[in-house]
Amino acid sequence: MDRSHNFSAGPSALPMEVLREAHAEFFDFAGSGMSALEISHRSDAFVELAHQAEQDLRALLKVPAHYKVLFLQGGASLQFSQVPMNLLRGRKSADYLHTGLWSGKAIAAARRYAAVRVAGSSEAAGFDRVPAVADWRLDPDAAYLHYTENETVHGVQFPATPTASVPLVCDACSSLLSKPIDVAKHGLVYAAAQKNIGPAGVTVVIVDEALLDRALEITPDILNYAQQARADSMLNTPATFSWYLTGLTLKWLRRAGGVAHVHRANAAKAALLYRAIDESGGFYVNRVQAAYRSINNVPFVLADAAREERFLHLAERAGFRGLKGHAAVGGIRASLYNAIGLPAVEALADFMRDFQRAHG
Ligand SMILES: *Cc1c(COP(=O)(O)O)cnc(C)c1O
Repeated sequence: MDRSHNFSAGPSALPMEVLREAHAEFFDFAGSGMSALEISHRSDAFVELAHQAEQDLRALLKVPAHYKVLFLQGGASLQFSQVPMNLLRGRKSADYLHTGLWSGKAIAAARRYAAVRVAGSSEAAGFDRVPAVADWRLDPDAAYLHYTENETVHGVQFPATPTASVPLVCDACSSLLSKPIDVAKHGLVYAAAQKNIGPAGVTVVIVDEALLDRALEITPDILNYAQQARADSMLNTPATFSWYLTGLTLKWLRRAGGVAHVHRANAAKAALLYRAIDESGGFYVNRVQAAYRSINNVPFVLADAAREERFLHLAERAGFRGLKGHAAVGGIRASLYNAIGLPAVEALADFMRDFQRAHG
């Protein structure tokens, strides 16, 4: 079978093993005589699947018992509104760290519900770093501090978990399960599945039970974490097939050695590409400061921008997919999520060197 090297930022590659499993039981899920597309979310087989997916996620991330794990819909973007709705009762403002495109969107959405304080920003530096901790202006009365662990568009990643006296909220959309995270340091962590967790359609929310009594009155039940927690994330019909595939992907990740194991592989994959960029003598450029470079998304430009179209065209012809940079910043971006193997990244690094030899 001729499979592409899929470097898309999301939806992204799923492990071949997961696709094979889903394929093998497509017409008969768990002996039900139905596919996982057709089965009721109230059936024993689906409830068991949902339970197992939660257990696998808890085991992979060592989630402490006093956190709820929710499998919701609406993507990470809905969390930009759902987080403030659920955490602002009795509070006037929330703190945000602005480190790239996605935290910017989170800030814009939160402004509908609260006075947002930008506690730190690297905007003036063109989002080439996480602002120095010494420059953060944290408000001890804020409802929470929100940060974007990995900026998927700008390729900027936090080198360490921020410290705050208020609940810490993490958009881990493009990094959850690609590297260890200390859930206990957070009030809430969220991620849409379509990067490292599974297909589009499921959003994982991990939330400290102590925060479940802070929803604004306007919060619809369907968006209320406490209500969803009581209903095991099935207040209405969930995205059953996405949930099923997410479950298979979580099982695969446990078999593959878990988060610490894939983290080592992911760091090695990223190092390979950054080396190809840094050793190109300025032909390829990534302008993120070394300490903040993302292991999940490697954006770069060609010093001669006029050659980018040719690069993308030839890359596509060579079987590389999804390399076009986000429309907001242009250039090239290689997303190196869990299901991307080292050989695909080696092939891309070789392609980059070949392209430079031919066009440098
Ligand atoms: C992809 C992404 C989002 C948006 O996810 P959707 O599921 O498309 O809403 C938000 N934040 C980060 C960091 C992302 O990478």
